[in-house]
Amino acid sequence: MHTSNNYGWLDRFRLVAALLVVAIHTSPLGAFSPEGDFFLTRVLARIAVPFFFMVTGQFTVKKMADNPSRLCLLHYLRKILLLYAAAILLYLPVGIYAGHYQGMTFLSAMKMLLFDGTFYHLWYFPACILGVLTVYLMSRFMKLRGMIAVSAVLYFIGLLGDSYFGLVRKLPPLETAYEVFFRICSYTRNGLFFAPLFLTLGIWCSKGSRRGGIVYISMLALSFLLMTGEAFLLRCFSWQRHDSMYLMLVPVAAFLYRTLLCLPGLPGNTGKRLRNASLWIYLLHPAIIIVVRGVAKIMHLESLLINNSLIHYIAVSVLSAGAGFGIPFFAVPIRRFWDQAWGICRRAGIFRRLTEKTEPAGKLGEISSPQSTYTSRGRAWIELDRTALAQNVEYLSSLMPEGCRLMPAVKANAYGHGAVWTATELNRIGVDAFCVACLSEGISLRKANIRGEILILGYTPPEDFALLARYGLTQTVIDYEYAERLAGAGIPLHVHIGIDTGMHRIGIRCEEITDILAVFEMPNLSMDGMFTHLCTCDSPLPESRSFTDNQIQAFYRVAEILDEQGISCPRLHLQSSYGLLNYPGLDADYVRAGIALYGVPSSAEDEAFFSDHLVPVLSLKARVTSVRMLFSGESAGYGLAFTAEKNMRIAVLSIGYADGLPRELSCGKGYVLLHGSKAPVIGKICMDQTLVDVSGIPKTSAGDTAVLIGISGESEITAVQLASRCGTITNELLSRLGERLERVEKIAPTVIPEWH
Ligand SMILES: *Cc1c(COP(=O)(O)O)cnc(C)c1O
Repeated sequence: MHTSNNYGWLDRFRLVAALLVVAIHTSPLGAFSPEGDFFLTRVLARIAVPFFFMVTGQFTVKKMADNPSRLCLLHYLRKILLLYAAAILLYLPVGIYAGHYQGMTFLSAMKMLLFDGTFYHLWYFPACILGVLTVYLMSRFMKLRGMIAVSAVLYFIGLLGDSYFGLVRKLPPLETAYEVFFRICSYTRNGLFFAPLFLTLGIWCSKGSRRGGIVYISMLALSFLLMTGEAFLLRCFSWQRHDSMYLMLVPVAAFLYRTLLCLPGLPGNTGKRLRNASLWIYLLHPAIIIVVRGVAKIMHLESLLINNSLIHYIAVSVLSAGAGFGIPFFAVPIRRFWDQAWGICRRAGIFRRLTEKTEPAGKLGEISSPQSTYTSRGRAWIELDRTALAQNVEYLSSLMPEGCRLMPAVKANAYGHGAVWTATELNRIGVDAFCVACLSEGISLRKANIRGEILILGYTPPEDFALLARYGLTQTVIDYEYAERLAGAGIPLHVHIGIDTGMHRIGIRCEEITDILAVFEMPNLSMDGMFTHLCTCDSPLPESRSFTDNQIQAFYRVAEILDEQGISCPRLHLQSSYGLLNYPGLDADYVRAGIALYGVPSSAEDEAFFSDHLVPVLSLKARVTSVRMLFSGESAGYGLAFTAEKNMRIAVLSIGYADGLPRELSCGKGYVLLHGSKAPVIGKICMDQTLVDVSGIPKTSAGDTAVLIGISGESEITAVQLASRCGTITNELLSRLGERLERVEKIAPTVIPEWH
């Protein structure tokens, strides 16, 4: 079963690769044997950077190539540019001190920024940018094979400028060409000639079955042996101008990658920590080298810490690893500080125009004449917390293996949260796949300019198939007959095939292999994905767990059969929120999270777990429209369902069952919060209004805000408490919250003026 993280070995090898890069820059064996040093730093360690490129290829570039939107590309470029900028700043003082920037012209600055990097290890970042851009461009025009072929030609050109330069020297016209070229970039080991081949190989190696480990290991050993021979031979001939690129490096990198993918999975999910740590080690080790040298000088330990190259390497590695694992630890407070600063700016109104699209133009207290829109927060409304949403995305993502993406369920108006607001926020933080229940939901997202893949999980009538294509929506194949209809429509359509592994609701039965295979052969259908739904993954009972395990196995078995049949396996997904929480790390390309993304457990048993990790996004509030007396013996509301036993004060709230407030909460079964205190519901909840007892809350007056879900003072009503009172799950409660509720973004409470 695939319950362990199948990319675990890639993550572990990143750490090894980072330490190999440290070796390149410290020459651990330098003091002992020049041959040993050459082998370690110029042969063995040369697999590190290609490996990093291959991982980027598999997890980032593949996504870009598969995805019609440019969002992935832009997101990646922004991330790398930010990192590169931070690294440039970090190493600026050292560079100045070392005189790197003396006599710099505009052209040499560009050369440095675009190709060579501003410090010796920083060439990697511009190489990532240029390489990813090159491969992305290629992916627009050709298939993977073509991309690999073009990249191989580029690599070959690079090779001649690198360790095979001796050949070029024998051909003077060619040598001149390269000399001109070297004015533009100092090495061919860069984003144009070096990175593309490994990026595309990364995509290629990620495909295919996860078997044949022994063969890959043997091929790895053989090709590494050949590469060692190649390197020493080139060294003998003094052909090398630089020593980053070998012919045999290509098979070595490919077989290494396949080997790592084939190794048996390990339990545990340390992926994100290892990924972050290896990046920090890469970034910081040159600074640590300087620190170690400085400390050695000050403490007169040069002979130990510098001259003994092995101890020098160990010191730098240990300190770099310490920094690598330690820094993410500080990231949380920094993040929190940033969020708070951002919140303050927003409250000060600095970014309001940009960020609060959902809020109607007419704000409370704003008197515009003639008034064209109603007052915000005037009657009953939902408050949405974007920081909570981002935090939940982050937590859920941390449970997923690398390369797996969130595909939030934004059906049913995003469980009442507002599909457009939710999807827009998610787009903004880089989420670019969604699932909805039906066509109309997909279309309204597209009309709101939501980017990325949108999968319709349910039935679309054949009459509307053309709309799928028009709005770029992806349809679920709900059974075999439906697949025939889709294919028969004669329109190219993007689909995900549903596999029924035991829920018997949607999909082709997993044992109907011939039908499944036949769908893959149908014309007009681009088979982008394959999924199943785990129908009892929320339950910890042993029989439920074993049922789920069987579902998971049955699903992967179908994937294996596709593989055996030589059908390239589409993107896989099987987990919903509880599927991810209870079965994290399953090998999948997407997780279809709904309820957990909104920070709410489905039922009360999980409340403690959720409150530790996930934050509710939604609060539900309503106005007090009137406070009145009810005298002893009088009844209130429909059906005289409540009779006062003593004189009391009651408040009328402008929210009712038509807004989604369950009628089950009538007659004291529910309460609301006013000024932090409980006000029980009295009588029957009406369609548009609700009565509550405020005898115990004398402060209450018309215009006050009552909290139905959320925090008031020291008290809180959670969605799950409300749902349990009504004998249902939060999914139902939230998705029934009505159209009529206004949806606004959460702002500091003091900003809402009282209404009188
Ligand atoms: C609604 C839905 C989801 C999301 O479920 P949650 O439990 O809310 O995470 C996932 N997959 C399918 C097929 C769904 O219908």
